[in-house]
Amino acid sequence: MDHFLYQNGVLHAEEVAIPEIAASVGTPFYVYSTATLTRHYQLFDDALDGMDHLVCYAMKANSNQAVLRLMASLGAGVDVVSGGEYRRARAAGFSGDRIVFSGVGKTVEEMELALTGGIRQFNIESEPEMVALSEVASRLGVSVPITVRVKPDVDAKTHEKIATGKSENKFGIPIAKARDVYRQAATLPGLEVIGIDVHIGSQLTELEPFETAYLKVAELTEELRSDGHDIRRLDLGGGLGIPYERSNEAPPLPTDYGEVVRRTVGHLGCEIEIEPGRLIAGNAGLLVASTIYVKEGEGRDFLILDAAMNDLIRPAMYSAFHDIFPVIEPDAGAEYAPIDIVGPVCETGDTFTRQRPMPPVEAGDLIAFRSAGAYGAVMSSEYNSRPLIPEVLVHGDQFDVIRARPTYEDMINRDSIPAWLEGLD
Ligand SMILES: *Cc1c(COP(=O)(O)O)cnc(C)c1O
Repeated sequence: MDHFLYQNGVLHAEEVAIPEIAASVGTPFYVYSTATLTRHYQLFDDALDGMDHLVCYAMKANSNQAVLRLMASLGAGVDVVSGGEYRRARAAGFSGDRIVFSGVGKTVEEMELALTGGIRQFNIESEPEMVALSEVASRLGVSVPITVRVKPDVDAKTHEKIATGKSENKFGIPIAKARDVYRQAATLPGLEVIGIDVHIGSQLTELEPFETAYLKVAELTEELRSDGHDIRRLDLGGGLGIPYERSNEAPPLPTDYGEVVRRTVGHLGCEIEIEPGRLIAGNAGLLVASTIYVKEGEGRDFLILDAAMNDLIRPAMYSAFHDIFPVIEPDAGAEYAPIDIVGPVCETGDTFTRQRPMPPVEAGDLIAFRSAGAYGAVMSSEYNSRPLIPEVLVHGDQFDVIRARPTYEDMINRDSIPAWLEGLD
């Protein structure tokens, strides 16, 4: 459930009419709902009720400072994958002991940043990284809690670009090698082995891959304990999917996911961490665009919007589906006809969908994309010199711009011309 509904024929975000935001900030823009973000966090927190746990929001899904501040205020932890994300987390108010550091390519600089600023744990993804972290921690005279990310070789049954738990993926170490790697970890100075990490992919629409992976983690926990390691924290990753297509069967709910966690690892007495990103932010956001032209082609028509692949790349990158619909509710008897919905960028890839049944739309009409709150604004670029679009946060009957649209001068002045080129005009 989200908080984007028609009220008197006009799409609202909570109590705010979308056309009101459009008139104020211009299109295209992203809009997020505080109530939906809060509810989604709460669903996960409740799902693990009774177990010692921390929900660590995977901020790569949506790392706006306001969204992060909201998560921090709710009591969430946060999963970061870069020094930039670490800095964003601290700036939004997360204390170091609520920040988990993941990612395959952590640099020495990033390690120093987190070790001096405070960190809950590092999730180690390779042996060379483990050695590097040991060296940095020793040099700084600290001991850092670590888990090792294992690849359970489970098929997450999701898009190949977001599957991470198979042996051919770049993440983590093969689970079969885990005991050796933990043995090595225990000998390295500056590292305190506290647990196991696993994250098998994103947009999972079934519970079975989680169940298989977590059972393997439970087995490994027992093995590592018998090897003498004090395994007391399990980071189970994120990845629970969201319903992008409303007509399709809905993916499992956080409560069902919580049951899987309880059933597979609940008996081990470990503190549980989970790292949801998409499920918290995805359906808490819309992308809103205006129609520039309706173009009649040979055999097919095109709805040309002012939003493009640089603003929302998911359809071009993962063939992702987004529900796309008019901000003004169509008449009950409106006739739907198939149309291609595209942006103005000069690439055929700049196509949001083909032959989508849509009610009649005219130039100037506002169009909304559902499920755009995660992996939307964070993946945007200024390709075709289209300035980044604003982000707006709604809270009840008020809305605030939480990232302003840069001016064209801002965009152009980010570049600089070398002195030797200056006089060449
Ligand atoms: C991307 C990622 C997540 C979040 O995945 P979602 O599908 O957005 O829930 C969690 N943990 C790690 C390590 C990730 O890379």
